[in-house]
Amino acid sequence: MKPIIAANWKMNLTQTEAINLLNDLSSVIEPYDFDIILCPSACYLNVCKEYKSSAVLGAQNISEFDEGAYTGEISAKMVSSCGASTVLLGHSERRHVFNESNEMIKEKLKLCFKYQLKPILCVGETIEERKNNKVFEVIKEQLAVIKQFEGDYLIAYEPVWAIGTGETATPEVAQEVHKFIRNIVGNDVPILYGGSVNAGNVSELLLQPDINGALVGGASLKISEFSEILKITSINERIPQ
Ligand code: PEP
Repeated sequence: MKPIIAANWKMNLTQTEAINLLNDLSSVIEPYDFDIILCPSACYLNVCKEYKSSAVLGAQNISEFDEGAYTGEISAKMVSSCGASTVLLGHSERRHVFNESNEMIKEKLKLCFKYQLKPILCVGETIEERKNNKVFEVIKEQLAVIKQFEGDYLIAYEPVWAIGTGETATPEVAQEVHKFIRNIVGNDVPILYGGSVNAGNVSELLLQPDINGALVGGASLKISEFSEILKITSINERIPQ
């Protein structure tokens, strides 16, 4: 399976800053033949679409409702019409800051499949859950929602304690959970690792047998760091597994 590198810009960048980053990215992205997914703010999907880059566009979230009187919400159909072909779902910031439940995520998954958006379901445990030996229980429960659907999807394992903290899971710790996920979702589903990925740790992570790519937050906003991550990914791809 070819590696996949996804960039989550989160709620960062003005439109001018996003355009500057896209300009820098266009030359950096083109040499690679693996999938690069850009998840900008939904405000900038149309702007990103104008850039004829080979990157796939993703939304960071969608509403659990299809359409109608839901002021402030952004629907699956809307992001699709603005160029997104994939959506991050159940990101830990959605689960923990906005109290998104597995039930809400299930509604969003239904809409993804209805509008041909490929979901990237994010799963991961908190530090308390890890300390209490609940990792596999939590992950299994988070994965149960997607097992009810037929369509294609990706999984991102993002331990909550590693997101935006600078504390990455060791390759061994990440691989242990990825293997557990692999046994549930099967060999055809790409499983990305996310949580403080940078140019210094991506290589070892990607060399693990069940890590098929990375979901990169903070480091995706820095062009030099992100281009280094892509370069390392491409070199890794040529190392026989
Ligand atoms: C993320 O936003 O999904 C993420 C992993 O962030 P960071 O790389 O900044 O930890």
